[in-house]
Amino acid sequence: MTTVSTPARRALRPSGRHLPEDTRRHHRALLLQLLFRHGPASRADLARASGLTRVTVSDVVGGLVAEGLVTESAAPVQGRVGKPPVLVQLAEESRQIVAVDLSADGVATGALLNLSGDVQERRSRPLEGRRGEDAVALVHAIVAELVEVATRPVLGIGVGTPGVVDAAGVVVDAPNLGWHDTALAEGLRSAFDLPVFVANDANTAVLGEHTFGDAGDGGLMLVRVGTGVGSGLVLEGALLHGHRSAAGEVGHVVIDPDGAECACGRRGCLETVLAAPRLRERVAADGPDSLAEVGAQVGVALAPVVGTLNLHELVLSGPLELLDGPLLEAVDRTIRERTMPVSGDQLVVRTSALGDDVVLVGAAVLVLAGQLGVS
Ligand SMILES: [Zn+2]
Repeated sequence: MTTVSTPARRALRPSGRHLPEDTRRHHRALLLQLLFRHGPASRADLARASGLTRVTVSDVVGGLVAEGLVTESAAPVQGRVGKPPVLVQLAEESRQIVAVDLSADGVATGALLNLSGDVQERRSRPLEGRRGEDAVALVHAIVAELVEVATRPVLGIGVGTPGVVDAAGVVVDAPNLGWHDTALAEGLRSAFDLPVFVANDANTAVLGEHTFGDAGDGGLMLVRVGTGVGSGLVLEGALLHGHRSAAGEVGHVVIDPDGAECACGRRGCLETVLAAPRLRERVAADGPDSLAEVGAQVGVALAPVVGTLNLHELVLSGPLELLDGPLLEAVDRTIRERTMPVSGDQLVVRTSALGDDVVLVGAAVLVLAGQLGVS
């Protein structure tokens, strides 16, 4: 038999068989997203906003009320005659989410959050040099403690970890934790019988900022400054993954070939000037004014990204006493100097609105998006 080879063609999106339950799940996510984003609404409002029929909306809302995810209440009467419309709203206290942040140096932090992203319980444990399976066991211990104290059904577990993480929640490479091809999500799933979502810490942080940090919809880059430097991007409302799940790895772009040695083995990566320990050394040696010089270097490195993607917001997340002030101002100024006016015109350069909780909140967003389709 002869086979005719056809040239490889790329589809824009994977297409597959469409099942009735997919449609139902889609409708459910659509309505939950409207309630999550815009607050209480009547069934008629939901039908108008979603384009679904009143019958479909009533059917799906009925299911959500039965699940306890949505509650009904009468709209406040404003001097109107007649029966007030019944409003439905997301029951923000109906579930809890277990979130874990592994981005900090030497400490693992977990929390319980409600569906509004509010932290309700917190547990921290020192890593004390744990690596490999010992570090995995520590994560399991934190999750077990939080599941134990949860007062509502747990919607799922979200984890933000350093390193490259694939779509299945396998940590491909996280040198600081000694993880290589570590199936973190699968291990947690089988131990706790809950849905689990694992993502890179900077990607997790940008999702937190996008959903709960008063971010706009025009393209957001969050640069996370800690022991290392990473970044995450939300473009057109979706997290950018990249070809090998390593989008945002700007920390190891070389900005000075003669610069300091980097953990990755090369010299002068962005991380060698911007990582928190390096910033502290720099301030100790050259005074606080030297932070403006670092900011200018960061601006040089990020201007091509801002120009290429026409970002709306660039957010720095990490120790505010180092990032906010001369460093941030220099980043802002340098990017504007090096890009077209249209790139800098409405650009916002700021620090994170969520502070130290940005990864925890983002880990909750992983679960909200994965389980309810909201973000
Ligand atoms: Zn490097």
